[in-house]
Amino acid sequence: MEAAGDQHIFRSEYPAVPVPDNVTLPEFVLQDAELYAEKVAFVDAFTGKSYTYADVVRDTRRFANALRSLGLRKKHVVVVMLPNVAEYGIVALGIMAAGGVFSGINPASHPSEIKKQVEAADAKLIVTDDVNYEKVKPLQLPVIVLSDASAAHLEGPINFNDLLTAADRATTSLLPDLHVSQDDLCALPFSSGTTGTSKGVMLSHANVVANLCSTLFSVGPELIGQVTTLGLIPFFHIYGITGICCATLRNKGKVVVMGRYDLRTFLNALIAHEVTFAPVVPPIILALVKNPIVEEFDLKRLKLAAVMTAAAPLAPELLTAFESKFPGVQVQEAYGLTEHSCITLSHGNPAKGQRIAKKNSVGFILPNLEVKFIDPETGVSLPKNTHGEICVRSKCVMMGYFNNEDETTRTIDKEGWLHTGDIGYIDDDGDIFIVDRIKELIKYKGFQVAPAELEAILLTHPSVDDAAVVPRLPDEEAGEVPAAWVVKVKGGKESEEDMVKFVASNVAHYKKVRVVQFVESIPKSPSGKIMRRLIKDQMLQRIRSS
Ligand code: AMP
Repeated sequence: MEAAGDQHIFRSEYPAVPVPDNVTLPEFVLQDAELYAEKVAFVDAFTGKSYTYADVVRDTRRFANALRSLGLRKKHVVVVMLPNVAEYGIVALGIMAAGGVFSGINPASHPSEIKKQVEAADAKLIVTDDVNYEKVKPLQLPVIVLSDASAAHLEGPINFNDLLTAADRATTSLLPDLHVSQDDLCALPFSSGTTGTSKGVMLSHANVVANLCSTLFSVGPELIGQVTTLGLIPFFHIYGITGICCATLRNKGKVVVMGRYDLRTFLNALIAHEVTFAPVVPPIILALVKNPIVEEFDLKRLKLAAVMTAAAPLAPELLTAFESKFPGVQVQEAYGLTEHSCITLSHGNPAKGQRIAKKNSVGFILPNLEVKFIDPETGVSLPKNTHGEICVRSKCVMMGYFNNEDETTRTIDKEGWLHTGDIGYIDDDGDIFIVDRIKELIKYKGFQVAPAELEAILLTHPSVDDAAVVPRLPDEEAGEVPAAWVVKVKGGKESEEDMVKFVASNVAHYKKVRVVQFVESIPKSPSGKIMRRLIKDQMLQRIRSS
């Protein structure tokens, strides 16, 4: 497991898995779809609207053709602002099949956040729904709207269904000059990485195909066509589009799509659709353990074999409580990040003779990946059982940040190691534990919140002289909540509550600063960097002593 030489490099205990190098992501996930033509690939938990594998193949091709005829060309970015809907996979794969680049965004985003992403990505087109159309209208880009007939009142956007019908009449094959290769970009999700504001993460077809091959190493032939996955994690996030949509399509399973969350509908969907695999985030595990609504349901009717939790830390007590309440359900923790195309560390499948990593471990190293733990100060790689920054090297490592050479070289070193900004260690059995995060990122219920973005907003307030935003933790439900230290200008009259409201009026709801404290000054290093660790620790101390 440990390589020779002067570096401590760890590899998977499982053999390497083959990665095809001649297929695009849509081709890879829809391979053999004709054998499952009548099987449902996506069903909406609320409306019952469904798409079979034959529908997905047909509509992906139709949508790709339609996009090409609208002028979309290779490398053109399409921003998709949709809740989870049954068509989401078709939209994303259609963009990729047309040679374009899919860039998802949270539909809850504030108009200024949408504008930022659209401009940063140099997007050529937007796909949204009728509910969100008004938010993107001022951006003066062509807009495709997914809607039912009720959207006939909208003037300006192109209707998704009309587009597909028109594409039928035009041509059934892709336009002739198109050759999409694995090295082409297929996705541009946004992540703040280790520092600063959100940046476009350039993922190629090869990156995501490689990630799926590693992640799905544990799926045996007995599971092909058998798994029903809950599609609740937002598809605009890498965990949703790669880990749920693409992974399920590759295995010819069914995705039960949920566009919004409430616990009753969640449990109803699990039971009614006989969901066997539910990728979630820690707050949902908390609700399943603590919320009395769960008692209204006959849990014996659940067909759930496993839940996977990733995107944020899971408290050990919560895991224990979940296991005793749902004894038949296996909990798989996994760890991943957008910059690594999705899952990076996970567990095996006992039915295939593979092992499950220890409780509270985020799993072991997936096949084909190399991992090391370094001293963040010196860069020296560390032996087993020693805390260090997790670095990963594999074909899944992003191509870089879009138009941001500096951040790219800061994050991926010359030897190809991706520096994650997370601190962890590997034990004698190869199980990995996450113990801390040194990057600035705040994770609110698994959603990314970039402190630099909130600080920039606070600094636009005339009464704010300086500001620092850090995660306030632990928060039982959200994991971490954004909290700010604010230095007011002399004579500034606003209250802490006013500052909370000011930020809230400029960002999506999950990015709200929940706590503001006025302070005399923001502690900074000699080079001017905000000393976030110090602020975080002082906040924690105040909570403990109050
Ligand atoms: P994202 O790019 O939005 O997927 O965020 C990736 C980050 O989420 C990682 O770098 C970690 O800081 C955090 N994260 C993901 N999975 C886990 C996990 N299982 N436990 C703790 N933190 C996690």
